[in-house]
Amino acid sequence: MSFISNVILGAFSNDLAIDLGTANTLVFEKGKGIVISEPSVVAIQTDGVNNRVLAVGLEAKNMLGRTPGNIIAMRPMRDGVIADYEVTEAMLRHFILKAHKRRKLVRCRIIVAIPSGITPVEKRAVIETAESAGARDVFLIEEAMAAAIGAGLPVFEPVGNMIVDIGGGTAEVAVISLASVVYSQSVREAGYKMDFEIMRHIKKHYNLAIGEGTAENIKMTIGNAYPDPENLETIEVKGRDLIWGIPKTITIGAEEVREIISEQINAILNIIKATLEQTPPELAGDIVERGIVLTGGVALLKNLDKFLHQETGLPITVTKDPLSTVVLGSGEVLGSDEILKQVMIT
Ligand code: ADP
Ligand code: MG
Repeated sequence: MSFISNVILGAFSNDLAIDLGTANTLVFEKGKGIVISEPSVVAIQTDGVNNRVLAVGLEAKNMLGRTPGNIIAMRPMRDGVIADYEVTEAMLRHFILKAHKRRKLVRCRIIVAIPSGITPVEKRAVIETAESAGARDVFLIEEAMAAAIGAGLPVFEPVGNMIVDIGGGTAEVAVISLASVVYSQSVREAGYKMDFEIMRHIKKHYNLAIGEGTAENIKMTIGNAYPDPENLETIEVKGRDLIWGIPKTITIGAEEVREIISEQINAILNIIKATLEQTPPELAGDIVERGIVLTGGVALLKNLDKFLHQETGLPITVTKDPLSTVVLGSGEVLGSDEILKQVMIT
């Protein structure tokens, strides 16, 4: 293709696809691939009157729980939707500028993946936020659809596909056929809830205060969903003794962590079962044959696939890169107006 037609077709248009997640924001640039993958965290400095964005993304996440009084590190997205508009806008603007490697905004087309079942008001908020962060045109697609496309499922065919996306704030189950989400259900029991339960348990049973980051690290290192007698891992946990106020270290084991997060694991199993029951028989038959595809960060939890297979009897597959599946699928949609037309939400 010539340079001129490339320009005309918008190959240099800087168009972006964004997975605005509760835990992580990823940006895919047309013709380039994933250019940003950072925590959805913003650190704000305040003097009581004026607020100033101090850091965004990884840098801000490292400040969580470590900030002095006049700095707050916050997550502007909650349960998959925008909880703080101003801060989300600042975060998006920062990531868009960073993706474009510019100081000034370049007007471009942006596709944003959003959870199924968000309200019209919440949709409007996403569009307005993206517009004020620099988008010329904003298109919304469903996260579940993006995930299914990213996973390489045959979403345009008349077959039932089940995709389960477990992130920080929510676990979402969706059945997709013929380019639409036929049925979906979500529950606010996912990665953060597990971290919270780990913090609570350690406080209650060991009188030890630990931070969110420490709890998340325990989950990622020895957390698991199915007992593995071969693998009785332990981890040392550092925190502050609640009685003596001094630093203390304890050791915690894989079985104990599995118990702590079992409520979240079971909640996820329950919405999968409920969704299977609600799915029309033909599509349910397809799912029984083809199995369930797991994605989102929590899909990386050890033995979650094994547990779900044991409980449902269905084949379970984890996508190749669960943290990137939604943005890769959104990027694929960005690359084809034909696909965009079929899957965009109006
Ligand atoms: P969101 O879409 O809400 O932004 P992600 O799909 O990015 O969420 O997943 C983030 C969640 O996945 C976090 O709760 C994180 O702790 C969890 N996670 C990431 N890696 C692992 C792992 N190896 N084991 C267990 N949980 C993980
Ligand atoms: Mg997500």
